[in-house]
Amino acid sequence: MAADAHAHPFDLAGRLPNAEQERRRLGIPCAASAWNGEQFAYQEELARKAREEGAVPMALCFALHPQLPALKDPPFSLNARPFAPLLDMLETLAVQGRLNAVGETGFDLYNDVFRATEAVQDELFAAHLETALRCGLPLVLHVRRAMHKVFALTGPLKKLPAVVFHSYSGTAAEGEALLRRGVNAYFSFGASILLNHKTAIRSSAVLPLDHLLLETDAPYQPLRGREFSRWADLPEILRGLARIRQESAAELEAATDRNFFTVFSKPR
Ligand SMILES: [Zn+2]
Repeated sequence: MAADAHAHPFDLAGRLPNAEQERRRLGIPCAASAWNGEQFAYQEELARKAREEGAVPMALCFALHPQLPALKDPPFSLNARPFAPLLDMLETLAVQGRLNAVGETGFDLYNDVFRATEAVQDELFAAHLETALRCGLPLVLHVRRAMHKVFALTGPLKKLPAVVFHSYSGTAAEGEALLRRGVNAYFSFGASILLNHKTAIRSSAVLPLDHLLLETDAPYQPLRGREFSRWADLPEILRGLARIRQESAAELEAATDRNFFTVFSKPR
């Protein structure tokens, strides 16, 4: 079965308690994103069990989500400096070799609420980038209306083993330009290509096969008529991408699987 390059198993379990059984039954390797200690501990335990029991693997990612500074509730107010403990945690996990990637980090300038936190997002991103560079880890990016910021960073991004654009919303030309400039970019597509997002559909149609990934972003990107996204959506997303690209689903599955393991295998 195809691999899921971006999901939140802790949050998914809140909606679907037997989600991990579904993942194993379908045989979906996944990259699990966490932004706090509770999520990470839960996902690290799932990954450990999967490894011990010879089940389909789970890769582990950690980062402070770029939307966190915009959340109203404490401790994420702009005035406080609440991020230090989480950045320390990122550093510890990375140095101890417990991460397959740093993410999801990036920039969200989608609306005024998020734009108001741009300076904090910049500061957080710089810390994540620094850790990823030092530990030789791939970066998983969340980017909304902020591709200009990514292009301003191609110098350092080029030095990373891989840069995954989760739910890629840039244009095909932007994606191709990043590759030409030497960034080992991977473009991950999920529900948006089945929900008529024109830019995502166009990008997913033409970006090179050896730089494509699939994702559910479970539970956060439901397909039409559903409450949340889950592992069982991945075959539909795979078939959707096969239709868009006019390629066989089997070929696409093999390629995206290969890409997944290239990106998320632990660095030595
Ligand atoms: Zn996500």
